[in-house]
Parts: sequence; structure tokens; C-alpha cells
Amino acid sequence: MDNVGDTNAGAPGSLGKHPVQRRPLRVLFLSVEVETFAKTGGLGDVAAALPKALRQQGVDVRVCLPCYRQIPESRLDPQPAVPHLDVPVADRTEPVATRQGWLRGGEGEPDVPVYLIQHERYFDRESIYGHADDGERFLVFCRGALEMCRALGWAPDVIHCNDWHTGIIPNWLRTLYKDDPFFADTASVFTIHNLAYQGHFDAHFLWLAQLQEHGFLYPTIPDFANVVNLLGRGLLFADAVTTVSETYAREILTPEYGERLDPLLRERQDRLFGIVNGIDETMLDPLTDPHLAKKFGVETLEARTENKAALQREAGLPVEPSVPLIGMVGRLSGQKGLDILVPALEALLRQRIQLVVLGTGDPHYHHLLHAAESKHAEKMRAFLTFNTPLAQRIYGGSDMFLMPSRYEPCGLGQMIAMRYGSVPIVRATGGLADTVQDWDPIADTGNGFRFDAYDSFDLFGAVTRALETYKYPDRWRRLQRRGMEGDFSWRTSAAKYLRVYDLALRSKERAGVV
Ligand code: ADP
Repeated sequence: MDNVGDTNAGAPGSLGKHPVQRRPLRVLFLSVEVETFAKTGGLGDVAAALPKALRQQGVDVRVCLPCYRQIPESRLDPQPAVPHLDVPVADRTEPVATRQGWLRGGEGEPDVPVYLIQHERYFDRESIYGHADDGERFLVFCRGALEMCRALGWAPDVIHCNDWHTGIIPNWLRTLYKDDPFFADTASVFTIHNLAYQGHFDAHFLWLAQLQEHGFLYPTIPDFANVVNLLGRGLLFADAVTTVSETYAREILTPEYGERLDPLLRERQDRLFGIVNGIDETMLDPLTDPHLAKKFGVETLEARTENKAALQREAGLPVEPSVPLIGMVGRLSGQKGLDILVPALEALLRQRIQLVVLGTGDPHYHHLLHAAESKHAEKMRAFLTFNTPLAQRIYGGSDMFLMPSRYEPCGLGQMIAMRYGSVPIVRATGGLADTVQDWDPIADTGNGFRFDAYDSFDLFGAVTRALETYKYPDRWRRLQRRGMEGDFSWRTSAAKYLRVYDLALRSKERAGVV
């Protein structure tokens, strides 16, 4: 459904029809995860694939992320892009360097420059997140990115910020940097990948950000009256706000999904747009995927059985071609529907199925899944780790792919699964509702199975419908084919982002520098 131009009352904003018409647009794309450099979830995928798609559409887009310990030196050019910068933090400066890497565009396609903000004390650590000073770390990253642009003499037209880690940038552009001639024409776009993670800090953060004179910002939201909410700041100050599916853009306007920011989102809904993510079809292609036991395409679907057998062996499950194998890949958090899956597990595992789960996250779910796997060793395997090649083998070897999410801003797993011929079973929320249409056996339409209520019985019902349909190989093949032939590319969505950039620039011009 393409309703980005939807103008219904109560719906998110309308994006005119005129794409940007000017010299190559300069976009600085800021994200703390970028796939092939550092990734824990969908943000990393988007931050690699969208810039590549924008580059293909002629945008001078450059990506910027922190230079984490896990990024091997071999991914970086030997010469730094900016050898030394003094980045202001509170009443001092922090020394950072900017390294350079590349996102390779594939054959005949342009590469995308990647800048990595290097600071040993902040980023040379075991993990990307989970440190007591995460607020300060990402603040240094953001301020470093702005000052890097100046050092490079490259003034961006648009800074595209992603999630709370970068929410301070739109705030700075309207305050500290508002009279800075270098950024005079720079607009900001803020994308919400997950509203639940907001980055809450206290007044100390304002001091670090040199914003103490502006104080707290949400007098109308009592919960946040004395909190620095970085995602909220992104929403409040950005020239345009997007999120990663049309349905999620509508859902977050309600108290149920709004994570207490729905009043603010409703105020800004004229500039809130839902644009569904795509997937990187070059990197995620079962015809070329090196991790699969056997490569296959829509014309050679039968070769898929080898991948299923290989996955069964890898999971230590009986190699049974006719037993439906359900896969799951994702963060083990409440968001992903484990609260309704766990109570249904016993009943599900009494069916003739196999279940393979890959995920890491909340220790509570690790424990529950491990216990279920021990009890049902013949039917279930839980890999409690992060393993990209194994994820690919689950997409390419499972018959069905389960995503019973409580909420799902977009979700990539269901799209990757469809591209790999695994039929999704999803709760119809957010991007799952936008990308999976329910199978209708009479009309012969749909590409998966959906259920509406966040409830174990409804989940069980949807799985049962899938298991019944699986008994009819012709129908099942049609479902698989329809998924594999779906358009999950970034082309259309990248074009929509171009229109958002245009709108942000026009809105900034209209507003003048506030
Ligand atoms: P989210 O961004 O909420 O984590 P998405 O479905 O948007 O969820 O994206 C998840 C991405 O991370 C997919 O590319 C998925 O394959 C990958 N992923 C998640 N968990 C794992 C894991 N344990 N091992 C490998 N890949 C994973």
C-alpha cells in the first residue's frame, strides 16, 4: 500500500509529489549501527541499505558511526579522513579522529563513504551498548560528526538522524548551532526505528551538551517534566520525522503504542511520515548466499529441501523432510511476542512440527527457551547467540517463519524470510501488517498468515492454519513463490525519503532559522 500521501484526518502527514530538484543533495546519515561494521538489529541493516539506495539515486550521502573496537582495522582506510578534532563537551574538549571506510555498492554501483568517529575511551569497548555513560558516548559521537563536517568543508543539506542516540542533533541545530553559518542551510530528519528506546538522562546531560540554559522541554507530559528524553528532542526539533512503516506511523499516535510520547507525536503529525523499510536484495539473495548448503531461486525451489535437511542436522533434530519446520530469528525481548509464544509452546510442540529459534536478549527468555528445548529435544532447538550465517540458514531452510510481535515498527525478518521462501506467520501490527497479507485459500491471495489479537490462542490458531495449508504442496509452493517474488527492494522507499528531505528543506526555509 502506498499511502505516504494519505491526507485523512488523524493520519500522519502528506508528502507532496515533487522530488528534490537541485545539485546532488548532500545527506549525512547518522546511525550508531551500520551493517558490516556493527549491528545488533534492524537499525544496522537500514543504515547500510538505505544509503546505498540513495546513492544509486544520485544523492551524495555519507554515513557516520562510532569507531567501535569490534571494527577491524582492515575495514578502514589507512589515512584518517580528519586526523584530529577538538570536540566540545561541557566545559572541556575531547580529542577525536575520523576514520574512513566504505559501504561497497556491488557491481557497477557506487560505493558510499563511511566516517567513523574514533575516541578510545568512549568506543574502544567490548559492546556497542549497555554502558553507564552511553548518553555521553553518543553525545560525543554526534558532536564529533557535526564538527567533522566543518573540518571536511562538507556542509550537509540534510542530517538524517536515527533513533535516540542522535536525537540531540535536531536540538543543537535549533540552539547551539542556530547562528552558525556553516549549518545555516542544514535541515534535519529524524527517523524512529523503535519508539520504546528513548534515551532518558538527567540535568547532567544538558550540561554535557551545553544546553543547560534551555532546560527541560515537556511541561505538558508530566512523566518527562524533569527528564532529558533524547528521542523526544529529535521529534520536537526535526524538520521532518519518519518512522519505518505506515501502520506504525498511525499506531504511535495512540496511547497504546505511543510509549507516552503520543501527545508530542500527535502535535507533530503533520510532519510525520511512515516509510516501510526494504531489504538489501544484493546481500540477501538465496541464489548467491554463501551461507546456504544449497543455493536456490524461485525457479529451483525444490533445491531448498537440502537447506532444510542441513538445518535439521545443524540443530540436532531428526532429518524429516515432511515435518514442517518453523524458524524464529530475533532479539529475545518482550516486544517480539515471547510472552504469548511461551504459554503456547507446549501445545505447539504437541503438533507434528520442529522449531528452531535463534536469538539473544533478556535472560528470562533465554532460561524459558532453554528449558523448553531440554524438554522437547526431538522437536525444538534454541540457539541463544548472535550468528548471521546461521540466521541466513534458518531463513533458507525453515518452512515457516514466526514473528508474533507485540509491536513491530517494521520488522525485517519477515521480509528476509519471504525472499528465502519461508512463509511468515505474524501478528498484524506495524510493518508486519504492511508487508504480510493473509492467505485466502478461496481467492488464492496473500503471502503468509496473520493474526490480530496479542494472544496465545490467536497465535496458535494462525500456526494451525499454516500447518493445515502446508499439507497441500501446490498451495504451499504458490505461497512461497508469491513471497519470493514480492518487491522488498529499497527503490520505492528511497524515493520517498528523497521527498521527505525535500519537504524538510522547504519547511526549514519557510520557518527561517528559529
Ligand atoms: P529489530 O530491529 O527489532 O531487532 P528486525 O526484524 O527489524 O528487528 O531486524 C532484525 C535483524 O537482525 C535481521 O536482519 C535479523 O536477521 C537480525 N538478527 C536478529 N537477531 C539475530 C541473531 N541472534 N543472530 C543473527 N541475526 C539476528
